[in-house]
Amino acid sequence: MVSYNGFEPVIGLEVHAQLQTESKIFCGCRVAYGAPPNSLTCPVCLGLPGALPVLNQTAVDKAVSAILAVGGEVRERSVFARKNYFYPDLPKGYQISQYDLPIGKGGQVSFRLQSGEEKSCRLNRIHLEEDAGKSLHSQGDEAHTRVDLNRCGTPLIEIVTEPDIRTPEEARACLQKLKQILQYLEVCAGDMEKGHLRCDANASVRPVGSDKLGTRTELKNLNSFKGVQKALEYEVNRQIDLLRNGGKVEQVTLLWDENRQVAEPMRTKEESPDYRYFPEPDLPELVLGNRWITAATSATPELPDAKQARFVAQYGVRQYDAEVLCDNRSLADYFEQVVGESVDSRTASNWIQTEVLGSLRERGESIGECKASPLHLGDLLKLVESGKISGKIAKTVFAEMIDTGKSAGEIIDKRGLGQISDEKSLQAEVDRVLAANSANVGKYKAGKPALMGFFVGEIMKATGGRANPSIVNRLLKKALEG
Ligand code: ADP
Ligand code: ZN
Ligand code: MG
Repeated sequence: MVSYNGFEPVIGLEVHAQLQTESKIFCGCRVAYGAPPNSLTCPVCLGLPGALPVLNQTAVDKAVSAILAVGGEVRERSVFARKNYFYPDLPKGYQISQYDLPIGKGGQVSFRLQSGEEKSCRLNRIHLEEDAGKSLHSQGDEAHTRVDLNRCGTPLIEIVTEPDIRTPEEARACLQKLKQILQYLEVCAGDMEKGHLRCDANASVRPVGSDKLGTRTELKNLNSFKGVQKALEYEVNRQIDLLRNGGKVEQVTLLWDENRQVAEPMRTKEESPDYRYFPEPDLPELVLGNRWITAATSATPELPDAKQARFVAQYGVRQYDAEVLCDNRSLADYFEQVVGESVDSRTASNWIQTEVLGSLRERGESIGECKASPLHLGDLLKLVESGKISGKIAKTVFAEMIDTGKSAGEIIDKRGLGQISDEKSLQAEVDRVLAANSANVGKYKAGKPALMGFFVGEIMKATGGRANPSIVNRLLKKALEG
């Protein structure tokens, strides 16, 4: 339990999620990462005079799907607004966003903490907006800044939570859950490092027991889930120290410095811009009929919580295992395909969590890149189940499978890893092991039956674990007792 010296943190998040669309929100330009600077632009997203925006229907679909998934309400009529400010990466001089009538209202995110405790956070709103461009700063003697406008007009949703979050750990868990839901929906790719998902965190503290909100600060530039938690820990502790020493929290915007692990003021409330929002005159109201919402509702895929509950009920795996397996849809599908090959579900679950995920981690690959197909892994696990190969050999086979994508049968044949069931050669091994261990044979005969395990072990060692254990046992018994 984290102690805050009689204070309670209060945290709210503002999350920007980049929508997975082919084209931008108000023009036909392609959305892509890493294209040559300023190659994905047109008069609309460059804000040239007279160019008119046209709303991308897929962006609206994705926003609606996110709102419904978190149990929010889709507003029948929503309004785009201009948010005016000057910045070199914003050629229009304003961003098209939504202000007092956003497309989504309410909803909530439930999430689980490391301790297993369930928490939830209400959402205030979800709105659609366009992204700005990017300034690329270079350092050194000839320091300069260049502007890349490819990102201008990239569709985003902004998700604003209520100040329901009570610890930095909760903030991280809430954001991770939100990311997971958006990924399940294919609304957002969710990679914070690539900027698909960006989070600003607002934090204040108050004496435990108080229900008044304290003065908050806003943390920006949080580039990872860990960064969100670290920055909030830093800021919450700073505010508490300040208050305990008779100081006062100023409402400021802080920039998190990941390298130095400190947050530094960017601007104060007085310096914060007045955006002079007004309704966007070039776009009509966005009107969404019931039919639209019904269609979106029926297209919602199974979400993480529902999938986990089903895995526990249908496959008899533990809650923790279900959580790991349902981390993302591809992994959950992979598991279900392996089980679909008539493999015991717990065996499949164990193998995927240890061997598959372990190897992928080592290789720096995702499940989508896994060369060992569910079909081939299923075949391999069936060979273990039926006793045709040992678990140890299966691991050797799997190492090659994930390297080459070959089938279990092909690897076993090529490398001669199949089980030895040929009695003649096993009999030769038995004779050799007994001859080499005559002292132990004597002890066995004098009344030490536990030595049977030793003889079996010697034969397994000699055959690289490939000897058929039941035949070995039978031959040994016959040789020792017959
Ligand atoms: P703004 O209009 O300045 O963006 P909002 O009212 O939209 O402010 O709130 C932004 C975020 O800050 C929300 O996530 C909200 O929950 C959170 N928030 C508001 N007040 C506080 C507070 N006193 N302490 C912590 N978080 C707060
Ligand atoms: Zn464009
Ligand atoms: Mg706000």
